Amino acid sequence: MGRNPRYDVLFEPVRIGPVTARNRFYAVPHASGMTNAMPRMRAAFRETKAEGGWGVVCTGYVSIDPGSDDTPLPYATLWDEDDIRSHALMTEAVHRHGALAGIELWHGGGAVTNRLNRTPSMSPSGTAWMPTHVSYMGNQRPRVMDEQDIRELLEMQRRAAARARSAGFDIVYVYAGMGYLPHEFLLSEWNHRTDAYGGCIGNRVRIVRELLEVTREAVAGRCAVALRISLEELRARPSDNAASEAHEVVQLLADLPDLWDVKMDSETTDCAPSRFTPEGSHEPVIAFVKSITGKPVVGVGRFTSPDAMVGQVRRGVLDLIGGARPSIADPFLPRKIDDGREDEIRECIGCNICISSWHECVPVRCTQNPTIGEEWRRQWHPERVPPAQSASAVLVVGGGPAGLECALTLGRRGYEVMLAEAEEELGGRLRFETRLPGLATWSRVLDWRRSQLQRLNNVTVYRGNRLEAGQILELQPAHVVLATGARWVPLLYTPLEVPAGTLDTPGVYTPDDVAAGVPMEDPVVVFDFDNYYMGSALAEHLARGGHNVSYVTPSGLASAWGVMTNEQPQVYRALAAAGVRLHTLARVESFTAGKLTLTHVFTAARAQLPCRALVIVGARLPNDALYQALMARREELPAAGIAAVTRIGDALAPGAIAHAVHSGHRYAREMDAGDGGRILRRDAPLRTVER
Ligand code: ADP
Ligand code: SF4
Repeated sequence: MGRNPRYDVLFEPVRIGPVTARNRFYAVPHASGMTNAMPRMRAAFRETKAEGGWGVVCTGYVSIDPGSDDTPLPYATLWDEDDIRSHALMTEAVHRHGALAGIELWHGGGAVTNRLNRTPSMSPSGTAWMPTHVSYMGNQRPRVMDEQDIRELLEMQRRAAARARSAGFDIVYVYAGMGYLPHEFLLSEWNHRTDAYGGCIGNRVRIVRELLEVTREAVAGRCAVALRISLEELRARPSDNAASEAHEVVQLLADLPDLWDVKMDSETTDCAPSRFTPEGSHEPVIAFVKSITGKPVVGVGRFTSPDAMVGQVRRGVLDLIGGARPSIADPFLPRKIDDGREDEIRECIGCNICISSWHECVPVRCTQNPTIGEEWRRQWHPERVPPAQSASAVLVVGGGPAGLECALTLGRRGYEVMLAEAEEELGGRLRFETRLPGLATWSRVLDWRRSQLQRLNNVTVYRGNRLEAGQILELQPAHVVLATGARWVPLLYTPLEVPAGTLDTPGVYTPDDVAAGVPMEDPVVVFDFDNYYMGSALAEHLARGGHNVSYVTPSGLASAWGVMTNEQPQVYRALAAAGVRLHTLARVESFTAGKLTLTHVFTAARAQLPCRALVIVGARLPNDALYQALMARREELPAAGIAAVTRIGDALAPGAIAHAVHSGHRYAREMDAGDGGRILRRDAPLRTVER
């Protein structure tokens, strides 16, 4: 099967200064959670994207100096010669597949707190970036940069750019975005300077110009010089000389960089969740750039559809299709389009579990792609699986994310698989969750697996089959995998976080009851200490369905964990729009006769809310009845030829969909592998100079 000529334009080479990208697929810099302490993992993770056809593959943010220290968040370093080898591992890996390697050199300025380094950070006028935001809070404010600091910053960039060249990079960045140091110079609220670097926009842009110039000198014609810039605020500001300050900045720098990489200002708008923001959301902010510069422009928009990509090029919005999340969910996206297999693309669902990994300071995880970050340490390739090692038949019980991923991967390996699902429809928890406000895109988890399964004639799917222990013994599979999911329970906790037992009074419900369409009387209270999406999504769903809804949480914020996935700001807007009343730092004490008694988490002050239906969104327990029934007949298993019964996904440990997919994939990969096949290699830093 060949490429559809409609997509030919995506495979045209693009000249970027002295180098040429083989096509328009550009894996932009993004947080990977992999520091210099994980050089092999990092190289393999990026090599996979190059192998998958991306024309350019970039690093995440790479600090140019110990004074730009984002600890505990996982950032890379290029501080001295010692750091070069670790990056060279990546450039060599990316070059093996004909892709270019880009490096995002970074100074955090007033957005970092130098916790590790213990020296004050610096910013143009001493103001911190986002000091009211909990994850950026530090007790020390940045110092004001003097002229010497500016000279040193330019030297830091120059030296780092020269090291980047030695490490083999083809594209070297100046990063003036996301509140980091050069971006702070661009915005007048952060920059109150009265010298040549402050005041009019021509002065505020000076530092960016000089950073570009020193970078160009350092790479000495061998590498392209890219500018990554956030345009959201600047675009909203009027200018005397242009349509906006953003227009003026682009006019002033125009053809100075070899490439413009344009983005939004904050994580929540730059990497917005699909729950609230559609594909291509950056376009209104960034579309003007190409009309001013003659240099190529790259931008992102969670693009997964090749038609949308072609549209961006044809309409003159972008020259290069930037991918961060789409390149995580499917590192082989370009290759699949090239082969005419675009229906095989594992499309990003926009859940932002990937970005949550960075916030949690661990290597990137993905709901759709369980192999991401596992390329080196578990030797998992996204497209290749080891062949089956036996003729064993496997029965997978449960067609949710875990069971589907497990059956698919076992099937790809060549095993005979039976997948039994109790309901007529596959999908498990997705059957209901994708009907919640904003979560329809998540059905891609099911759609992709279902369509891939249809291609395998060694996997038989039985729907409407609720299996019991006796039937499984009769079926006599060699292996039984239980992916029977989990259920919500109306469990409460004491103020000391000790489980206080379940609340089994009439009028108490769980999300499973809402999923089953159980009727509820108003007023409804959703009590959420799960803290992820379910509580707020249910509150919005019930309110939109006409209910009078309040949302209560013991946390300080609604959907507290949603800060990890960039959902939280929009959760607030969605709940406000749906008319849901919020009560934070409150715990359910009792519920009787239409009245809910709450206690304040810190003061123990009591409050009462009218309530006829209390939906508790807190604990989940595995559906392990089938497992217990099989274990009760353990001695009959050998005679039935059953070698093992294994639980995966929520049936083992309730978690997010990403956990279930990873669990199902892992079982399938490790089947028949023996201990030697259960790889978890430990990475370690590389040093150029041993001391
Ligand atoms: P996970 O996230 O771990 O995949 P889900 O809750 O999404 O878990 O999916 C579990 C699936 O297992 C549900 O679709 C449910 O209908 C199915 N299931 C549970 N018990 C049985 C059973 N005894 N036989 C067949 N299917 C079952
Ligand atoms: Fe997309 Fe979610 Fe994977 Fe991130 S974790 S790449 S948002 S599917």
